[in-house]
Amino acid sequence: MSANRTFVIVGAGHAGGRAAQAMRQYGFEGRILLIGEERHVPYERPPLSKELIVTDAGLEKVRLHDADWYAENRVELIAGNAATSIDPAGKTVGLADGQSTGFDRLMLTTGARVRRLPVPGADLDGVFYLRTIEDSETIRAHIAAGTEVAVIGGGFIGLEIAGSAVKRGARVAVLEAADRLMGRSVAPEVADWFARMHRDRGVDLRFGVSVAAIEGNGAAAGVRLGDGSTVPARVVVIGIGILPNVEIAEAAGLAVDNGIVVDDRGRTSHPDIYAAGDVANQPNIFAGRRLRLESYQNAQDQAAAVARNLCGADEAYEDSLWVWSDQHDVNLQMTGAPDGWDRLVWRGNPDDGPATVFYLAGDRIVAVNTINNGREMRPARMMMQSGRTFEADALADTSVKLLKLARS
Ligand SMILES: Cc1cc2nc3c(=O)[nH]c(=O)nc-3n(C[C@H](O)[C@H](O)[C@H](O)COP(=O)(O)OP(=O)(O)OC[C@H]3O[C@@H](n4cnc5c(N)ncnc54)[C@H](O)[C@@H]3O)c2cc1C
Repeated sequence: MSANRTFVIVGAGHAGGRAAQAMRQYGFEGRILLIGEERHVPYERPPLSKELIVTDAGLEKVRLHDADWYAENRVELIAGNAATSIDPAGKTVGLADGQSTGFDRLMLTTGARVRRLPVPGADLDGVFYLRTIEDSETIRAHIAAGTEVAVIGGGFIGLEIAGSAVKRGARVAVLEAADRLMGRSVAPEVADWFARMHRDRGVDLRFGVSVAAIEGNGAAAGVRLGDGSTVPARVVVIGIGILPNVEIAEAAGLAVDNGIVVDDRGRTSHPDIYAAGDVANQPNIFAGRRLRLESYQNAQDQAAAVARNLCGADEAYEDSLWVWSDQHDVNLQMTGAPDGWDRLVWRGNPDDGPATVFYLAGDRIVAVNTINNGREMRPARMMMQSGRTFEADALADTSVKLLKLARS
């Protein structure tokens, strides 16, 4: 493989760092430039709402590679400098500091940014969003025993922060506009179990609420709801979703539709430009439609597969749709596409111990949740991906090991 070629990766997050690694592992000998807006080496974000709110673990605990790795692997990390433009015809990337760099192939791993809540008071001190390590460290520094914390949004990030803040002794309210938690991701019955679990651990959960304003004189003092009542809060964390960072791709004329549109190889509408991670919208055979996944596993594996394709491989990537979330002491894992199911089968009762929930369409498994039962995720995925049919009674029977059923 030509050592004279230059591959530029824009976005030095999880997918970007992983892509650089995969290029070297594949044997690419040319130049690799990894351009990142953040002033850090690439790091993993899942601990930011979990361990890092509870302890001051720091960047060393979450970085993807040691600081030395970049020089050792001849990956030129340009940190703290955003790419501001792409010229697909001239094959150059313009940078915020005014420089530009040429590429033979370009990979976009620009990820996503938080969705902002447009209400009065959202700019008060004590109002936070969580995407970066700085955000996580700031939130942690503001939480202590007895701090009143309001979390706006009952999705994964909000619920993880709620659990972590409770561990720190904070008094936490979660304010959710819908009538249940984790609306897009789990069945109502599973969401109900999680709602009970959060309430049992002291979280004040409010459903069907709208946020009218964040009140306070300079600093947050409470969240005023649509009904005129106020939830007292010195710390307000807003977790209402993310938006893909597509602007430079769009301005360069690449196809964009809820993320950068890529094919199953990760190629955009330009033959020498690829994309992966939270920003990429890729066909998913299992789900039967395009998906823009926001998950660790996707950032890890899709980025590596797409990076190999830059290097000359011709590899279709099929995400196996696996995500997890840790809330309080409960580990939730999910696989599959939780739509199109017609019944649920519970294997075990999560009140008494580990449990697995199968989402069935007819007798076929289309999605699975494990609750403190990660060891059943692998056989459950095998069963789901096999496309076989299973009897509900057999799935629910905890006296038979799931692996045995998967291999039967
Ligand atoms: C708090 C938190 C907890 C999470 N927990 C889980 C979990 O438990 N399980 C799970 O599966 N997933 C979890 N995730 C999701 C997972 O971390 C993401 O899916 C993953 O980080 C996506 O990686 P990425 O590289 O595509 O994007 P990002 O991590 O967003 O990285 C993109 C990088 O590109 C940079 N960038 C953007 N635009 C430019 C530009 N123009 N020029 C240069 N650089 C640019 C950004 O600054 C950023 O550093 C969590 C995410 C967060 C924020």
